[in-house]
Amino acid sequence: MKSNTQFSFELMWKAIVKCDKRYDGKFFYAVKTTGIFCRPSCKSKTPNYENICFFENVVEAIQQGFRPCKRCQPELSVDIYDPQQEIVVEAINYLEQHFQEKITLDILADKIGISQYYLIRIFKEKIGLTPHKYLEIIRIHEAQNLLLTTVHNSTEICFQVGYRNFSSFYRQFKKICGCSPSQFRIKSGREI
Ligand SMILES: [Zn+2]
Repeated sequence: MKSNTQFSFELMWKAIVKCDKRYDGKFFYAVKTTGIFCRPSCKSKTPNYENICFFENVVEAIQQGFRPCKRCQPELSVDIYDPQQEIVVEAINYLEQHFQEKITLDILADKIGISQYYLIRIFKEKIGLTPHKYLEIIRIHEAQNLLLTTVHNSTEICFQVGYRNFSSFYRQFKKICGCSPSQFRIKSGREI
């Protein structure tokens, strides 16, 4: 169990069981089985103790391959107004909603109304990844989700999550998950 924060595991566990708002922004928790991370106060179902890991900030969680929860929106900071962060959040939201479509950097920059160069720069600064890398993480997580919750095969899933080509899907999947899509399905025993 991983805890890179200033708090003890016990304290953080209590905070998430109670959905304690006082800890929002002080740490984040992620659930390994769903690949999602949340604020302590999130009202979603309390996860299993052994599937949790903790992070001090949003960037760490995203770099480890977790996606922000749609319900508690942990990527939005609670109290600071930061226009660059707003742009990054807008870009993330766009990617989350359109990952199944063809997305290029100029489409994304155009939607947000800034230059590609500026978008890459602030995205990397805030998240530590390029928008493209972030999009790959979204797609692979969605593929994991479909492998666990549907009977579609890897090729069908590859196209459903926005890839145009099976070999690049397969390569990315292995890179992010450390195994092939079919191994992933077998290993997880299809439980969620
Ligand atoms: Zn949440």
